[in-house]
Formats: sequence, C-alpha cells, structure tokens
Amino acid sequence: MKIFKDPKKIQQHISNLKKRGKTVAFVPTMGALHEGHAALLRKARTAGDILVLSIFVNPLQFGPAEDFSRYPRPLKNDLAVAKKEKVDMVFTPAAADLYAADHSTHVAEDDLSRGLCGAVRPGHFRVVTTVVAKLFNIVLPDSAFFGQKDYQQYKVIERMSRDLRFPVRLVMVPTAREKDGLAMSSRNTYLSTAERETAPAIYQALCAAKKDIEEGAALNRAGSRIRAALRKSGIRAIDYAAVLSAADLKAASQTDKKLVVAVAVRLGKTRLIDNILVKRSGKNI
Ligand code: AMP
Repeated sequence: MKIFKDPKKIQQHISNLKKRGKTVAFVPTMGALHEGHAALLRKARTAGDILVLSIFVNPLQFGPAEDFSRYPRPLKNDLAVAKKEKVDMVFTPAAADLYAADHSTHVAEDDLSRGLCGAVRPGHFRVVTTVVAKLFNIVLPDSAFFGQKDYQQYKVIERMSRDLRFPVRLVMVPTAREKDGLAMSSRNTYLSTAERETAPAIYQALCAAKKDIEEGAALNRAGSRIRAALRKSGIRAIDYAAVLSAADLKAASQTDKKLVVAVAVRLGKTRLIDNILVKRSGKNI
C-alpha cells in the first residue's frame, strides 16, 4: 500500500497506471474510518484494478459551531483498516496541498444544494463540490463510491459530475448501522452516554415514517409526525425532517415513485443526519 501526500505525485503515478489500461476505483473520506467506510472500500475493491482511498479533513467543511481541531484523526488505525480492505493507494494531502494560498476557484451546484443541509449550513456544498472536483482531477477515478447516509451529498455530486462531464461512474452504498439502528458516523464518538442512548430514535422515526407512507399516509403530514416522534424521544433540536422526491429533492408528490425521508438533528453539540428511501408501489400512488 502506497501513501501519497503530494497531489502531483499521486496523479502522475495513477496516470501512468491508466496508460497501461488499469482502472481506478475511488473512495473519498475524512478518515476516522468505521464500518460504513469499510463497506465503501469493499464495494470499490471489486470495481477497479486500483483502489484509492483519500483521507482529507477539510478545514473549510467545518462551520463555527463545529471544532475542526476536535475532529478525530486516528491515522494509524485508518491505515490498518485501509490495508485490511486491500487499498492500493492512500492519498492524505494537507490543506495547503489542495488549496494554494491564493486559491480563488470554486465549483458550486445551485439546485440540489439549496435545501436540507444546504439551507442549514450555507456554503457547505460548495466546499464539498469544490474538493470532490479537485480529488477527481487528481485521482482520475473510473468509479467513485459514496454513502447513502449523506444522500443529499451524493445527489449533489452526481449532478456536478453530470453537468461538468466528469468521466466517472458514481455508486451509492447503503448506510451501515450500529445494531440499534444508529447510522455509523465518525461524529458518534462525540455523543455522551445519555445522547448515545437517545440517538437510535432517529432511525426509529425514519422507519415509522416509511411504514406510514407505505400504508398510504398523507405525505404532507409526514414531516410533522417525525418531528413529534423525535421530540417524544427527547430530541428537541431538529434542523429538518422532510419527505422529498428521491430523484430531485423537491417536495414529494403523490406521483413520485421513490421518496427520501431525511432528518437532521442536534444532540448536545453533535449534529447527526440520517435518511431512508421509500419505494412506492403503484397502489400507493
Ligand atoms: P466522511 O468521512 O464522513 O466524509 O464520509 C466519507 C464517505 O463515507 C461518504 O461518502 C459518506 O457518505 C460515507 N459514509 C459515512 N458514514 C457512512 C455509513 N454509516 N454508511 C455508509 N457510508 C457512510
């Protein structure tokens, strides 16, 4: 397993391998790898000759409410996970390797980025699309793997890749969960014991909403029912609870075949997001 910090060096190395006909599968992360990341790596391992993992904790991705210096960075453990999942190259740039001091170019997606997390964290997706575009240009992937846990992020990157014609196939991998249903996240380590006990209520509320929708409940009341269920479990800081068309993240309508139920809450200082996809059979539409 080779470790690169310098964008030019890894780009050159991958470019040479591609000239020899090798295909590249790519998993971008912020490190602190858990089973969710491992699931992406396993899926990606079967998709390309060369498996590339990037670990980059982007300082620009942290708002004033979340401490960049507090984000976990267990690099030794991450490299052990990478080795176990048969990663060929790990790309661990420093911020200065990706952002020149006079960096002034951004990639912004202007539609799917507006709602949900984009509304609560203005500018967040512009940072994500900019860094993913840079990483795609450096790693030159044929396929790239993202988690369903960040569904809006996946849709935004999918739109960016289509609009800018990145020659990459995107794959969305289902959310890996703890036994009690909590979506795995590097941020779960921030939760106090009491918060960790409350957290599974998020997935329970999503599952209940999915069942209601499948049984034909009115879509326009689903959000308020989820909020009520979360409050009952002791979760009061709810950034959003929404039922949207899974295709374009617009308000769900009775004719949408696939919906996404998405939630973002804050437990103490920790922000958690989760979602569930709902397929609607003809009789429900
Ligand atoms: P992060 O390191 O949190 O930026 O996440 C890197 C990638 O891993 C993103 O594509 C995430 O959607 C994905 N990911 C994070 N948590 C999970 C999970 N529990 N299940 C599946 N994918 C995940």
